[in-house]
Amino acid sequence: MQFAVLTLFPELVQAVAQHGIIRRAVEQQAVSLACYNPRDYTTDVHRTVDDRPYGGGPGMVMKSDCLLRTIRDVRQSNLGRLIYLSPQGSPLTQAKVQNFAQESALILLCGRYEGIDERIIQLEVDEECSIGDYVLSGGELAAMVLIDSITRLLPGVLGHEDSAEQDSFAEGLLDCPHYTRPESIAGLEVPAILKSGNHAAIARWRKKQMLGATWLKRPDLLAKKDLSAAEQALLNE
Ligand code: SAM
Repeated sequence: MQFAVLTLFPELVQAVAQHGIIRRAVEQQAVSLACYNPRDYTTDVHRTVDDRPYGGGPGMVMKSDCLLRTIRDVRQSNLGRLIYLSPQGSPLTQAKVQNFAQESALILLCGRYEGIDERIIQLEVDEECSIGDYVLSGGELAAMVLIDSITRLLPGVLGHEDSAEQDSFAEGLLDCPHYTRPESIAGLEVPAILKSGNHAAIARWRKKQMLGATWLKRPDLLAKKDLSAAEQALLNE
Protein backbone atom coordinates (compact mmCIF):
# COMPACT_ATOMS: atom_id res chain seq x y z
CA MET A 1 0.00 0.00 0.00
CA GLN A 2 1.33 3.39 -1.03
CA PHE A 3 0.22 6.17 1.33
CA ALA A 4 0.76 9.80 0.32
CA VAL A 5 -0.22 12.34 2.96
CA LEU A 6 -0.74 16.04 2.28
CA THR A 7 -0.04 17.81 5.53
CA LEU A 8 1.37 20.99 7.00
CA PHE A 9 2.89 18.81 9.74
CA PRO A 10 4.77 15.96 8.04
CA GLU A 11 6.85 15.15 11.15
CA LEU A 12 3.66 14.43 13.04
CA VAL A 13 2.43 11.97 10.43
CA GLN A 14 5.84 10.34 9.89
CA ALA A 15 5.89 9.44 13.59
CA VAL A 16 3.24 6.78 12.91
CA ALA A 17 5.79 4.83 10.86
CA GLN A 18 8.55 4.98 13.42
CA HIS A 19 7.23 2.41 15.86
CA GLY A 20 5.68 -1.01 16.11
CA ILE A 21 3.69 -2.73 13.41
CA ILE A 22 3.75 0.12 10.89
CA ARG A 23 7.49 0.51 11.17
CA ARG A 24 7.81 -3.24 10.54
CA ALA A 25 5.43 -2.95 7.57
CA VAL A 26 7.54 -0.16 6.07
CA GLU A 27 10.70 -2.24 6.56
CA GLN A 28 8.98 -5.19 4.87
CA GLN A 29 7.91 -2.82 2.07
CA ALA A 30 4.28 -3.74 2.63
CA VAL A 31 3.60 -0.01 2.91
CA SER A 32 5.31 3.22 1.94
CA LEU A 33 4.56 6.58 3.49
CA ALA A 34 5.37 9.83 1.66
CA CYS A 35 4.41 13.23 3.05
CA TYR A 36 3.88 16.34 0.97
CA ASN A 37 3.78 19.73 2.63
CA PRO A 38 1.69 22.40 0.84
CA ARG A 39 4.05 24.98 2.34
CA ASP A 40 6.74 23.63 -0.02
CA TYR A 41 4.47 24.52 -2.95
CA THR A 42 3.94 28.18 -2.03
CA THR A 43 5.41 30.93 -4.19
CA ASP A 44 5.43 33.95 -1.86
CA VAL A 45 8.31 34.88 0.43
CA HIS A 46 6.29 34.20 3.57
CA ARG A 47 5.31 30.72 2.34
CA THR A 48 1.69 31.47 3.23
CA VAL A 49 -0.65 28.48 3.49
CA ASP A 50 -3.81 30.11 4.84
CA ASP A 51 -6.10 32.96 3.88
CA ARG A 52 -9.15 34.80 5.22
CA PRO A 53 -12.58 33.33 4.49
CA TYR A 54 -14.91 35.02 2.00
CA GLY A 55 -17.86 36.40 3.94
CA GLY A 56 -15.74 37.13 6.99
CA GLY A 57 -15.96 35.37 10.32
CA PRO A 58 -13.41 33.72 12.56
CA GLY A 59 -10.65 31.41 11.43
CA MET A 60 -8.66 30.95 8.26
CA VAL A 61 -8.97 28.60 5.31
CA MET A 62 -6.15 26.60 3.72
CA LYS A 63 -5.01 28.38 0.58
CA SER A 64 -5.99 26.52 -2.54
CA ASP A 65 -3.25 27.43 -5.02
CA CYS A 66 -0.44 25.67 -3.14
CA LEU A 67 -2.82 22.84 -2.26
CA LEU A 68 -3.68 22.29 -5.93
CA ARG A 69 0.02 22.29 -6.86
CA THR A 70 0.68 19.76 -4.10
CA ILE A 71 -2.13 17.49 -5.29
CA ARG A 72 -0.87 17.70 -8.87
CA ASP A 73 2.61 16.69 -7.76
CA VAL A 74 1.39 13.85 -5.54
CA ARG A 75 -0.65 12.43 -8.41
CA GLN A 76 2.55 12.01 -10.46
CA SER A 77 3.62 9.17 -8.21
CA ASN A 78 0.45 8.07 -6.42
CA LEU A 79 -2.55 6.98 -8.49
CA GLY A 80 -4.76 6.30 -5.48
CA ARG A 81 -8.08 7.89 -4.60
CA LEU A 82 -7.90 11.15 -2.69
CA ILE A 83 -9.46 10.94 0.76
CA TYR A 84 -10.10 14.19 2.61
CA LEU A 85 -10.10 13.67 6.38
CA SER A 86 -13.07 15.67 7.56
CA PRO A 87 -15.60 15.67 10.41
CA GLN A 88 -18.22 15.94 7.66
CA GLY A 89 -17.11 12.70 5.99
CA SER A 90 -18.72 9.31 6.27
CA PRO A 91 -17.72 7.69 9.57
CA LEU A 92 -14.81 5.26 9.52
CA THR A 93 -15.76 1.67 10.40
CA GLN A 94 -13.84 -1.59 10.30
CA ALA A 95 -15.76 -2.49 7.12
CA LYS A 96 -14.53 0.73 5.49
CA VAL A 97 -10.99 0.00 6.68
CA GLN A 98 -11.25 -3.46 5.08
CA ASN A 99 -12.30 -1.85 1.78
CA PHE A 100 -9.46 0.67 1.91
CA ALA A 101 -7.05 -2.21 2.57
CA GLN A 102 -7.99 -3.68 -0.86
CA GLU A 103 -6.57 -0.64 -2.64
CA SER A 104 -2.92 -0.32 -3.64
CA ALA A 105 -2.55 3.43 -3.07
CA LEU A 106 -4.31 6.20 -1.19
CA ILE A 107 -3.81 9.95 -0.96
CA LEU A 108 -4.80 11.39 2.42
CA LEU A 109 -5.47 15.12 2.63
CA CYS A 110 -5.22 16.68 6.10
CA GLY A 111 -7.03 19.95 6.65
CA ARG A 112 -6.07 22.62 9.18
CA TYR A 113 -7.72 25.88 10.32
CA GLU A 114 -11.40 25.94 9.22
CA GLY A 115 -10.57 23.40 6.55
CA ILE A 116 -10.04 23.61 2.79
CA ASP A 117 -11.81 25.58 0.05
CA GLU A 118 -15.07 23.84 -0.87
CA ARG A 119 -14.10 23.86 -4.55
CA ILE A 120 -11.07 21.64 -3.84
CA ILE A 121 -13.50 19.11 -2.41
CA GLN A 122 -15.65 19.37 -5.52
CA LEU A 123 -12.73 19.16 -7.94
CA GLU A 124 -10.23 16.81 -6.35
CA VAL A 125 -11.64 14.81 -3.45
CA ASP A 126 -12.94 11.30 -4.10
CA GLU A 127 -14.21 10.66 -0.59
CA GLU A 128 -14.54 12.50 2.71
CA CYS A 129 -13.79 10.35 5.75
CA SER A 130 -14.43 11.15 9.42
CA ILE A 131 -12.97 9.31 12.38
CA GLY A 132 -15.84 10.33 14.65
CA ASP A 133 -18.36 12.97 15.61
CA TYR A 134 -15.94 15.41 17.20
CA VAL A 135 -13.65 18.09 15.78
CA LEU A 136 -9.87 17.78 15.73
CA SER A 137 -7.48 20.68 15.10
CA GLY A 138 -6.18 18.97 11.99
CA GLY A 139 -6.54 15.88 9.82
CA GLU A 140 -3.16 14.43 10.80
CA LEU A 141 -4.38 12.28 13.69
CA ALA A 142 -7.22 11.06 11.50
CA ALA A 143 -4.78 10.19 8.68
CA MET A 144 -2.65 8.29 11.19
CA VAL A 145 -5.72 6.37 12.34
CA LEU A 146 -6.41 5.38 8.75
CA ILE A 147 -2.79 4.39 8.10
CA ASP A 148 -2.64 2.29 11.27
CA SER A 149 -5.98 0.54 10.88
CA ILE A 150 -5.39 -0.23 7.18
CA THR A 151 -1.78 -1.36 7.56
CA ARG A 152 -2.55 -4.01 10.16
CA LEU A 153 -4.95 -5.66 7.69
CA LEU A 154 -2.43 -5.96 4.85
CA PRO A 155 -1.27 -9.49 4.06
CA GLY A 156 1.81 -10.54 6.02
CA VAL A 157 1.94 -7.44 8.24
CA LEU A 158 0.62 -9.06 11.41
CA GLY A 159 2.25 -12.26 12.54
CA HIS A 160 0.06 -15.25 13.39
CA GLU A 161 0.30 -14.38 17.07
CA ASP A 162 -1.34 -10.99 16.61
CA SER A 163 -3.70 -11.83 13.77
CA ALA A 164 -6.52 -9.38 13.09
CA GLU A 165 -9.06 -12.09 12.39
CA GLN A 166 -10.37 -12.24 15.93
CA ASP A 167 -10.17 -8.54 16.68
CA SER A 168 -13.27 -6.59 17.56
CA PHE A 169 -15.51 -5.84 14.54
CA ALA A 170 -13.78 -8.40 12.27
CA GLU A 171 -16.81 -10.69 12.53
CA GLY A 172 -19.21 -7.94 13.54
CA LEU A 173 -18.64 -8.78 17.22
CA LEU A 174 -16.37 -7.49 19.99
CA ASP A 175 -13.26 -9.48 20.87
CA CYS A 176 -13.18 -12.01 23.73
CA PRO A 177 -11.24 -11.29 26.97
CA HIS A 178 -7.51 -12.05 27.02
CA TYR A 179 -5.32 -13.28 29.89
CA THR A 180 -1.63 -13.85 30.43
CA ARG A 181 0.50 -14.84 33.45
CA PRO A 182 0.21 -14.81 36.42
CA GLU A 183 -2.70 -17.21 36.94
CA SER A 184 -4.06 -15.13 39.80
CA ILE A 185 -4.20 -11.33 40.22
CA ALA A 186 -5.69 -10.03 43.49
CA GLY A 187 -7.75 -13.21 43.78
CA LEU A 188 -9.01 -13.08 40.18
CA GLU A 189 -8.20 -16.33 38.42
CA VAL A 190 -7.66 -17.09 34.75
CA PRO A 191 -10.79 -19.00 33.57
CA ALA A 192 -9.99 -22.71 34.00
CA ILE A 193 -11.08 -23.58 30.46
CA LEU A 194 -8.19 -21.57 29.01
CA LYS A 195 -5.77 -23.89 30.82
CA SER A 196 -7.61 -27.08 29.81
CA GLY A 197 -5.79 -27.62 26.50
CA ASN A 198 -9.18 -28.47 24.94
CA HIS A 199 -9.02 -26.31 21.81
CA ALA A 200 -12.60 -26.92 20.72
CA ALA A 201 -13.91 -26.01 24.16
CA ILE A 202 -11.68 -22.90 24.25
CA ALA A 203 -12.92 -21.77 20.82
CA ARG A 204 -16.52 -22.26 21.94
CA TRP A 205 -15.89 -20.36 25.20
CA ARG A 206 -14.27 -17.50 23.28
CA LYS A 207 -17.17 -17.23 20.83
CA LYS A 208 -19.60 -17.16 23.74
CA GLN A 209 -17.56 -14.39 25.39
CA MET A 210 -17.54 -12.42 22.14
CA LEU A 211 -21.31 -12.71 21.86
CA GLY A 212 -21.73 -11.80 25.54
CA ALA A 213 -19.42 -8.79 25.39
CA THR A 214 -21.18 -7.49 22.30
CA TRP A 215 -24.60 -8.04 23.85
CA LEU A 216 -23.54 -6.12 26.97
CA LYS A 217 -21.40 -3.34 25.52
CA ARG A 218 -22.57 -2.86 21.92
CA PRO A 219 -26.07 -4.26 21.41
CA ASP A 220 -26.27 -2.09 18.26
CA LEU A 221 -23.64 -4.33 16.62
CA LEU A 222 -25.52 -7.47 17.58
CA ALA A 223 -28.72 -6.10 16.11
CA LYS A 224 -26.94 -5.62 12.77
CA LYS A 225 -25.28 -9.04 12.73
CA ASP A 226 -26.76 -12.02 10.98
CA LEU A 227 -26.14 -14.64 13.70
CA SER A 228 -25.69 -18.26 12.64
CA ALA A 229 -27.89 -20.85 14.34
CA ALA A 230 -24.89 -21.96 16.42
CA GLU A 231 -24.16 -18.39 17.53
CA GLN A 232 -27.82 -17.82 18.39
CA ALA A 233 -27.80 -20.99 20.49
CA LEU A 234 -24.62 -19.90 22.31
CA LEU A 235 -26.13 -16.51 23.02
CA ASN A 236 -29.28 -18.08 24.45
CA GLU A 237 -27.41 -20.54 26.71
N1 SAM B 1 -14.65 23.82 10.20
C1 SAM B 1 -14.60 22.40 10.04
C2 SAM B 1 -15.96 21.80 10.33
O1 SAM B 1 -16.57 22.18 11.34
O2 SAM B 1 -16.42 20.92 9.58
C3 SAM B 1 -13.59 21.77 11.00
C4 SAM B 1 -12.19 22.10 10.68
S1 SAM B 1 -11.08 21.28 11.74
C5 SAM B 1 -10.77 22.47 12.96
C6 SAM B 1 -9.59 21.24 10.83
C7 SAM B 1 -9.33 19.95 10.08
O3 SAM B 1 -9.26 18.87 10.99
C8 SAM B 1 -10.37 19.53 9.07
O4 SAM B 1 -10.20 20.20 7.86
C9 SAM B 1 -10.12 18.05 8.95
O5 SAM B 1 -9.09 17.76 8.02
C10 SAM B 1 -9.63 17.67 10.34
N2 SAM B 1 -10.65 17.01 11.17
C11 SAM B 1 -11.28 17.56 12.22
N3 SAM B 1 -12.13 16.71 12.79
C12 SAM B 1 -12.04 15.56 12.09
C13 SAM B 1 -12.68 14.29 12.18
N4 SAM B 1 -13.60 14.03 13.11
N5 SAM B 1 -12.33 13.32 11.31
C14 SAM B 1 -11.41 13.57 10.34
N6 SAM B 1 -10.77 14.76 10.20
C15 SAM B 1 -11.08 15.75 11.06
